[in-house]
Amino acid sequence: MTTAFAPSTPLSAVDRCDRCGAQAYLRVELTAGGELLFCAHHAREHGDKLREIAAHVHDETHKLGSTPATVTDSEH
Ligand SMILES: [Zn+2]
Repeated sequence: MTTAFAPSTPLSAVDRCDRCGAQAYLRVELTAGGELLFCAHHAREHGDKLREIAAHVHDETHKLGSTPATVTDSEH
């Protein structure tokens, strides 16, 4: 593996889910290059598949403090 990427930087409010535009809590660095951002909802929805194609997954979904399934989702 060639992980010459910069160290993982924290996700912030300006990082948005590629699927729905909500705030991103998961960043996936692809083995093929590039990266994808996902909100907690889509991180859960695509989680297993993402880990198959990811070189590295930066997961901040724990920051939500509760399971995404029960969170009141104002941004979706
Ligand atoms: Zn999303």
